[in-house]
Amino acid sequence: MGDSEITAARNYAVGAEGRLTMDRLPMTGSSLTSAVDELGHPDYVTDSAAGATAWATGRKTVNGRVSRTPDTNEPLPTLLELARREGYATGNVTTAQLTDATPAALTAHVTDRACKGPADMTACPADTWSRGGRGSIAEQTVALRPDVLLGGGADVFAQKVTDGPFRGRSVLDQARAGGYQVVRDRTGLRTARPDRPVLGLFAPEAVPVEWTGAPASAGGTPPQRCTEDNPTRPAATPSLEESAKAALELLTTPSERSGPAGKGFFLQVEGASIDDRAHDADPCGQIGETLAFDRAVAAALAYAQRHPRTLVVVTSDHGHSGQILPLEARSPGLSTTLVTDEGSHMRLGYASGAPGEVQEHTGVPVRVAAQGPQAHRVLGVHENTELFGTLRAALGLHRT
Ligand SMILES: [Zn+2]
Repeated sequence: MGDSEITAARNYAVGAEGRLTMDRLPMTGSSLTSAVDELGHPDYVTDSAAGATAWATGRKTVNGRVSRTPDTNEPLPTLLELARREGYATGNVTTAQLTDATPAALTAHVTDRACKGPADMTACPADTWSRGGRGSIAEQTVALRPDVLLGGGADVFAQKVTDGPFRGRSVLDQARAGGYQVVRDRTGLRTARPDRPVLGLFAPEAVPVEWTGAPASAGGTPPQRCTEDNPTRPAATPSLEESAKAALELLTTPSERSGPAGKGFFLQVEGASIDDRAHDADPCGQIGETLAFDRAVAAALAYAQRHPRTLVVVTSDHGHSGQILPLEARSPGLSTTLVTDEGSHMRLGYASGAPGEVQEHTGVPVRVAAQGPQAHRVLGVHENTELFGTLRAALGLHRT
């Protein structure tokens, strides 16, 4: 979610002079997003695994790796692990599979992001139980036992564990044995109680997106309006805003509800399919997900209004392929023209991959916006790894 994606959503929904909720945070800085190769040389375009590892652990790593060092492949302690160790409640909410790179960077350490479930371990021989590892991302996540896990990826959690203490049972069985309440939809989420951890699996793979429309095409599409609906999204699927609100409620201890006591919590909320839809040059999907994420930001800010000691940070791991083009641009890539809510035409182009192939991330810096304790530390231009120190300072966490 680079500034292009934020600006496209702003132009479409609230107009060029309007402001999204995420535009209203008082402190805004810039986060530099490069990754590294195994020798420590820069890799100027990050993927989500290295991008999330950077702020989750304070260390840059190689693309594809999840919270392990670039050279020796050693595990790096994550913010969620450190917070949990010091008595904070912890949560991880996403519209992707819960085993996808961004949520995984807080809850697992694997050589390659592809190692989501026990059946996916080909790229991670060192992480298998037989080699002394702790298994797949799903197994490690459940074993860590964060208080709230909400997202997609039910198919991964249904996989059979092949080795280790839960051999022969599914990862879901492992979660239930660990005390998790497992919920599948909005109704289930409403019945979840804060006395036991909650695992919400709202889709077999990624949670279906909110908006649909024509993809960008070679030579451009006719002017279009987005459809603010997705017929393949089940009606009982919670929105990211609903999941964020539920997580905030579950993570707020009863003592905190009535006063300032209580330790507090660490929570990540990811609008994952902004990126996924940009990869497919799907402007309406991308804008709909950006606006859905913005409503989750509004839920966080409303919570912070009632709990002023809350630090809220809005950022991204990398920019993406979409560009806002002049209407007359003769782009060699894919493009579309959208008719915005304020009635103007906006041309979006995608040219970081060949037509018909995946569109790629870009190496631009991304926004990091914040309010609350330590928020001033995001001002200026910083490496993405520095957000780790800001969040650790706000939580008062020790280094290891
Ligand atoms: Zn991506």
